[in-house]
Amino acid sequence: MGQGACSLTQTERLALKDRARQLLQERQAVLVAHYYVDGDLQDLALETGGCVSDSLEMARFGRDHHAQTLVVAGVRFMGESAKILSPHKTVLMPDLDATCSLDLGCPTDDFSAFCDAHPDRTVVVYANTSAAVKARADWMVTSSCALAIVSHLHAQGQKILWAPDRHLGRYIQEQTGADMLMWNGACIVHDEFKGGELELLRQEHPLAKVLVHPESPAAVVAQADVVGSTAALLKAVMELDAPEFIVATDNGMFHRMRQAAPNKVLLEAPTAGNSATCKSCAHCPWMAMNGLQGLVDCLERGTGAVEIDPALGRTALRCIDRMLGFTAATAKPVGLVSGIGAA
Ligand code: SF4
Repeated sequence: MGQGACSLTQTERLALKDRARQLLQERQAVLVAHYYVDGDLQDLALETGGCVSDSLEMARFGRDHHAQTLVVAGVRFMGESAKILSPHKTVLMPDLDATCSLDLGCPTDDFSAFCDAHPDRTVVVYANTSAAVKARADWMVTSSCALAIVSHLHAQGQKILWAPDRHLGRYIQEQTGADMLMWNGACIVHDEFKGGELELLRQEHPLAKVLVHPESPAAVVAQADVVGSTAALLKAVMELDAPEFIVATDNGMFHRMRQAAPNKVLLEAPTAGNSATCKSCAHCPWMAMNGLQGLVDCLERGTGAVEIDPALGRTALRCIDRMLGFTAATAKPVGLVSGIGAA
């Protein structure tokens, strides 16, 4: 299990950060972190020449970096994507048990049967899936490029089988008009944002812009000033001329947002009404498993190595390569699902 920064003293945190910095250098490794992980890991990645980004950019960065050891601070599918893209590199993770509800909710056998039942459809899967599910797919997408890729396929007259996030799928379907058959998965963090309570919060903060990740329910997306990937939401906070933002995504994102726009007021989108007895914390329990101690342990002992069967990796690589080829050729603005101002 990873050790969250909140259970460490300031002295321990600084000592672990120093040790991790030293180990990254000794092992000639680079740290690739997601926006949702612990702030110390994000800072360390930036301070040591790594990156902090969304899953699309993490995949690109890891593939293109010269380091032969990648340390992926995020969840399992991110480490797997890094290994599939760079099979000859060592890919380490602070905690290999860090997974994702979308990945868990899309078992390979059931998904294969779903694909077999609809052979006339182009299979498009979200990055948040296992290597085995990706091996069944024609295309992989992330929230940064899903809209552009589905628009492209729709324009070619292709019918789509989409998995696993139903909210993102519905949003893409509404935006493109594509014929999409959906898998019924959801992110346990974004699924908790509530439309009714968001309306009340907007009334209290009439000048606030609403930024929403498209894994959120329709009633939340409908109130957005910006719908976008994590990179797009960060860009919106930096560029939009508003004093306040209501943000509907994992609150790990606030670390970079506060650094990038220190004068803006950031409010968490509500996850429950006042009467709720159980309220989501809007933070992914699996992203929270990434900690400084886990990072030091994997670098020191070589634990947490991601392994993928080479044949499976080669098959899964096709859908990832197709996505990376498409995004390189179309060079869409980083992180945008829909343009700033769109809802
Ligand atoms: S925040 Fe949601 S989509 Fe992201 S890793 Fe966690 S469960 Fe998966």
